[in-house]
Amino acid sequence: MQSEQSNWFTTCELAPGVWALQDPIGRVVPEYDVQSVNLYLIEGADRAALIDAGMGLGDLPAACRALLSTPDKPLMALCTHSHWDHIGSLHHFTDRRIHAIEADRLSESYDVENVGHMEAAPPTALLAEGDTLDLGGRTLTVWHTPGHSPGHVSFLDSTSGYLFCGDTCYAGTLWSQTEDANLDDWRRSLGRLAGNGARAICGGHEEPVQEPALAARVLAALDQALAGHSQHTPFTFDPGSSKHTFGEFSILLRDNG
Ligand SMILES: [Zn+2]
Ligand SMILES: [Zn+2]
Repeated sequence: MQSEQSNWFTTCELAPGVWALQDPIGRVVPEYDVQSVNLYLIEGADRAALIDAGMGLGDLPAACRALLSTPDKPLMALCTHSHWDHIGSLHHFTDRRIHAIEADRLSESYDVENVGHMEAAPPTALLAEGDTLDLGGRTLTVWHTPGHSPGHVSFLDSTSGYLFCGDTCYAGTLWSQTEDANLDDWRRSLGRLAGNGARAICGGHEEPVQEPALAARVLAALDQALAGHSQHTPFTFDPGSSKHTFGEFSILLRDNG
């Protein structure tokens, strides 16, 4: 895969009209135990969609314009969920969309320690299960995939067959110990990802393109961890939680279940 380093983001074309932009979170807050936040740009004939808006540190609108065949093409900014590392540059975009359950969170501005100020960016439209977003010659279908957070959504691209699944699944340290996490919901969403028939799943962190079978492996590992059959060490950044290690990925869980 050909990668290019712009001023801040590392970008690569995953398929015609589909790019990953990697935001180097590991350089900013290494204690989070993830290296990149992955943003995805998908270009249709009439408009483009940006999936997630990173930490807010690089010039994201310029990075998107540099990749699109028509730099001023209308661009909608879609959020998989409201966590700060996915919404940092959202306020730079005029068309902003998120699931209703997490919409209110975008109305607040706040500071993130060692990162910076997150600007309020209230949504201009809401996303719901089954919505189709027509980009011209290609559509994105919205799936509500809660678990990592309650209003988490994924997007299936009709043209590439890629499913952009945010923090539901990736090959890295999976954050499932937070107050936002619901393990029953996550289990259902992982099952849906594993059996979806997508060509690949593209997650919100680490190596962008993964086989859908990764979701099945994470699901099996989660059940193993909950049954007490896993290697784990305390995750000191978030006291009371542990990192359960399974080779290509790890799962953070609260120690009291
Ligand atoms: Zn998240
Ligand atoms: Zn994340």
